[in-house]
Amino acid sequence: MTNDTNSGIDALRAEVVAWLEKHWDPDLPADDWWRIVAKAGWTAPHFTLEQGGRGLHRNAGNTVRATFAQFGALRPPGGLGLLMAAPTILTHGTEDQIARLVPPVLEGRVNWCQLFSEPGAGSDLAGLTTRAELDGDRFVINGQKVWSSMAMQADYGMLLARTDFSAPKHHGISWFAFPLDQPGVTIRPLREMTGQAVFNEVFLDDAVCDAADLIGGAGNGWAVTQTTLYFERTGIGAGGSHAGFPVPGPKGGMLGRRAGHAAADPTPGGNLVLNLQDLIDLARSRARTADPHIRQQIARLYADTKLGQWNAQRAKAEAAKGGGQAVANLGKVAQTRIVKQSAQLSVDILGADAILAGTDAVEDGRFTSALVFSPASSIYGGTDEIQRNIIAERTLGLPRELLPGIGEPYAETLRAIGQRA
Ligand SMILES: Cc1cc2nc3c(=O)[nH]c(=O)nc-3n(C[C@H](O)[C@H](O)[C@H](O)COP(=O)(O)OP(=O)(O)OC[C@H]3O[C@@H](n4cnc5c(N)ncnc54)[C@H](O)[C@@H]3O)c2cc1C
Repeated sequence: MTNDTNSGIDALRAEVVAWLEKHWDPDLPADDWWRIVAKAGWTAPHFTLEQGGRGLHRNAGNTVRATFAQFGALRPPGGLGLLMAAPTILTHGTEDQIARLVPPVLEGRVNWCQLFSEPGAGSDLAGLTTRAELDGDRFVINGQKVWSSMAMQADYGMLLARTDFSAPKHHGISWFAFPLDQPGVTIRPLREMTGQAVFNEVFLDDAVCDAADLIGGAGNGWAVTQTTLYFERTGIGAGGSHAGFPVPGPKGGMLGRRAGHAAADPTPGGNLVLNLQDLIDLARSRARTADPHIRQQIARLYADTKLGQWNAQRAKAEAAKGGGQAVANLGKVAQTRIVKQSAQLSVDILGADAILAGTDAVEDGRFTSALVFSPASSIYGGTDEIQRNIIAERTLGLPRELLPGIGEPYAETLRAIGQRA
């Protein structure tokens, strides 16, 4: 880390502390506090001023959140709305859509989930078959989604559905800001090996979405999806995660609570992804800092984490020039390694104590939970194999994978493999 970067982070911390000393009021309801935080641009400091941010670099949010926590203030709301939905809508939405859909995310009034994957469409996301048919001024939607993280706590879904089966595979897809609270939506939790049920299956039976909430135009959903995935991968690459943030929206349990009480909660979301400071603190508390193996692993993680953050900044700078996709894919693969190494290191530090579970376990077993969760990092946001395919094809110029049916109506492709369009 250069001195310039250090002094930039210190200056940002000092600015946040000065602001908190003036504005933090633990007696406010969490929603009022979040409105004040959003108005000051701290929820998404990397957004531009016009977008409701402070025009800071991509990693500023991590510093801001950590400073709120160290100060004892309730951190800004997080979640997939902030990570992916808001930046996608800011990129592809109309003025009306931006005005309606983005402020509630910044103020923590709504929570979003991602309704992309289907039982037959994960890595091959463009193979999705959920159908959206225009009926007057709304779309009627039928199909099934799966692995939808936190759908139970969400109010809106980033929904991909096929609006035109006669168009080629990648051209008939549309991206919807889809309201979940309606009779046509059934959400069923799926229990994971961590013991938690973050995942869900989402069944859509004649569910509806206003045509006004179609983002980026009918049939243009693949381009809009690239934006969402870009923000997911750069967010993950910069050390953002699917867990460990105050959950926004009416189902998150924060709205209406005294902000001071909400701030004192243990980290919501389960701490499934460890950060470097967690590991340094653990090594100190277990008197393992003199062990050369532990020291070396911590140093390696520090270097990898910094590289991940700089990569995310590089991706943002290159995106501003119209490129940078491969850097986002690289960052995502690197973050997978960091998540797995961090989890393994916590177990190395703990030794045999790492196998304890429940109340006997160190910090209620959060390190063992992180280890059990860590394989997921090479799957969410697109698997490592798919990231490597993209890097190989788009950056290294290696031959593209053979994709049968490219250019033909997707209904024909489905018929050829015995499926009904
Ligand atoms: C923790 C977690 C959270 C998630 N949250 C969400 C969410 O909120 N919303 C959502 O929509 N989805 C979510 N997902 C789903 C995730 O995006 C998919 O699991 C992922 O895209 C892989 O799809 P799949 O599971 O269908 O596996 P498949 O696509 O069936 O892949 C199986 C294996 O084959 C490999 N493979 C497939 N195709 C190729 C290829 N062309 N070249 C090389 N190897 C290949 C894959 O890399 C993988 O190892 C989440 C997943 C995890 C683990």
